[in-house]
Amino acid sequence: MRLGFLTSADGRFFLSPAHAKALAATHELYIEKGAGKAAYWEDSAYHEFAQLKTRDEILEKAELIISLEPLDQAELREKKYYLNLFSYYAWESHRVETYKKLQSTWLGIDRLPRSTRAQSMDVLSSQASIAGYRAVLLGAQALKKFIPMLTTAAGTYPPARVLVIGVGVAGLQALATAKRLGAQTYAYDLRPAVKEEVQSVGAKFVEVPGVSAQEEGGYAKELPPQMLQNQQQALFDTVIKSDVVITTAQVPGKAAPRIITKQMVDHMQPGSVIVDLAAARGGNCELTQPDTPVITPNGVQILGPTNLPAQQPVDASMMLSRNLYAYLQLILPSSTWNPPVEDEIYQATLLYDPNSKLP
Ligand code: NAD
Repeated sequence: MRLGFLTSADGRFFLSPAHAKALAATHELYIEKGAGKAAYWEDSAYHEFAQLKTRDEILEKAELIISLEPLDQAELREKKYYLNLFSYYAWESHRVETYKKLQSTWLGIDRLPRSTRAQSMDVLSSQASIAGYRAVLLGAQALKKFIPMLTTAAGTYPPARVLVIGVGVAGLQALATAKRLGAQTYAYDLRPAVKEEVQSVGAKFVEVPGVSAQEEGGYAKELPPQMLQNQQQALFDTVIKSDVVITTAQVPGKAAPRIITKQMVDHMQPGSVIVDLAAARGGNCELTQPDTPVITPNGVQILGPTNLPAQQPVDASMMLSRNLYAYLQLILPSSTWNPPVEDEIYQATLLYDPNSKLP
């Protein structure tokens, strides 16, 4: 099959030269010129296995076109296969109509089930672990105090207190990173199952009695307003005593839950830092501005980075390349389009198929 790989606006790429070599054994590869630059994968590293082309050439010639995110309507053509690593389908489902009109197939790897079998393809997890790691570095950099306990000739300095709210993949990585830096770590999540994981990375789990919500598949549910209010009250003391608060709470397909109120921020110590990883979905803190740091009158810094993985494009690209390669191994078992239609991973990631009877 003719596979086309497009550049991403944020620099992350998803085909390493080694994976290109492996795929080239079965498929014809087109790679957009300069696509791997941010990961230091120069065009010359692909010459042997792929044709380096312009974006327009790839959009015309490739049959399966792979991009990090959905393409603009103007870039889509009739009767092709489009694969996004991040389809954002929960927010972008209206795009189906375009694929329907064009009779083109649309797939999104980010829709895969969070199962053991799908782990190696899990683009959400791989990028979330980078986000969690970098959130701690960002918080540590912004904090005007030491993170570890230091005993020096000029006195002893206590360790910083780092609280992580929302302990999915990003939150767990943030806790482990903060612990390695020497912080005293605390965590909260409304899924009770998380407590053990929190303790396994040396953090203290903050209990909020009577508030828990978990759906099948391990995701959280949206809390009813009264429960959210109880949660806010119970977390108040822990939040205001923290030097760094990292929030990652998300509910798939919904706006991010507002967990940190303005009132909490007003009571935090000057110099404290909030890193809100839910900024792109409205933020877990009432005062977060996406990608624009806020400093409150009482000296609290609120950071709302929306794309931390792109700040570490070497690892982000390598992880995405591994995820994509594992996924392609599953859906492209031969040199023509012949996917395993009964496979639950394929089914979950298929967003529109002109040959399917499903709407
Ligand atoms: P996510 O990004 O959807 O959400 C982050 C965290 O926020 C979750 O832990 C969620 O419980 C929490 N949260 C939501 N609302 C909250 C609130 N009001 N207060 C506090 N916390 C709140 O999570 P994710 O990293 O995508 O992980 C989602 C689930 O999938 C988890 O159960 C995770 O263990 C599981 N998972 C499984 C696999 C696998 O088995 N292959 C891989 C990755 C993740």
